[in-house]
Amino acid sequence: MGAKGIVKKGSEMKFRWPNGAECAVSLSFEYDAESVEWGYSRNIEGAFDIGGFSPQFGVPRVLELLNKHDVKGTFFVPGWDAERYPDSIKEIAEAGHEIAAHGYTHENFSELTPRKEKDVLEKAHKILTDITGIPPRGFRAAAYGRPISAKTLSFCRDMDYIYDSSFMDDDEPYQVKIDGKFVNMIEIPWAWPLNDISFMSPPFSSGMSLVLPQRKPQWVLELWKEEFDGLYEEVGFFNLVIHPRDMGRVSRMPILEGLVSYMKRYNVWFTTYSQVADLCLKQLVER
Ligand SMILES: [Zn+2]
Repeated sequence: MGAKGIVKKGSEMKFRWPNGAECAVSLSFEYDAESVEWGYSRNIEGAFDIGGFSPQFGVPRVLELLNKHDVKGTFFVPGWDAERYPDSIKEIAEAGHEIAAHGYTHENFSELTPRKEKDVLEKAHKILTDITGIPPRGFRAAAYGRPISAKTLSFCRDMDYIYDSSFMDDDEPYQVKIDGKFVNMIEIPWAWPLNDISFMSPPFSSGMSLVLPQRKPQWVLELWKEEFDGLYEEVGFFNLVIHPRDMGRVSRMPILEGLVSYMKRYNVWFTTYSQVADLCLKQLVER
């Protein structure tokens, strides 16, 4: 039962946000430079057609916006990109944002053997840790649709990750079960309507052929405001997924700023993924 009397139909029990906040808001960013195309095709010629925009323009614009509004984000970074742009990754971390794992070359984990998958997770973890000095605490599967294998969550748990963000089956965080048993890990689900790729990715980019037609930025802003209004009414969790390679255009950044400004007018808790996972795990212990 939410504070406003709305029965939650998804998670069995709701978490409470700090200081009486009536909605938790997380802004997540997928760094996704050339690793995406490299991972799909291993074709270095094609790899530079869009991925380079993220580190050069998209991410700097996002950082400027977050800094201006004093909001911390969570950045999912493929290890291959981190190796190529270590200074950029360091800059993100030094600005107080969270760096989280996102594979090595944006792999589809459902296509890897368990041994290869484990190697990829550990390799990416080490690269990010070496660059920032802070071990990642969570993971989001890459590739279209976030495919993971039956082993992914176990591997993440073995690495002491406290959250995963690969599922779309709820609209707020919930405790992860592995082999039917609850574990100390939180799922932070995302949704296509709150993912910029649904409306802003160029057709056939990244090996994808199923993207929706591109929408005018103001149309997307209206949709996101409506999503926020509904989730706020439920004392819920607003989880935005942004790709700086797509959102970082000058015509689109203003709607991200418009959305942040809009949400700041309400009683919300802006949180990184680690913070929300820590809070949920703490409340599970107290129950
Ligand atoms: Zn990605």
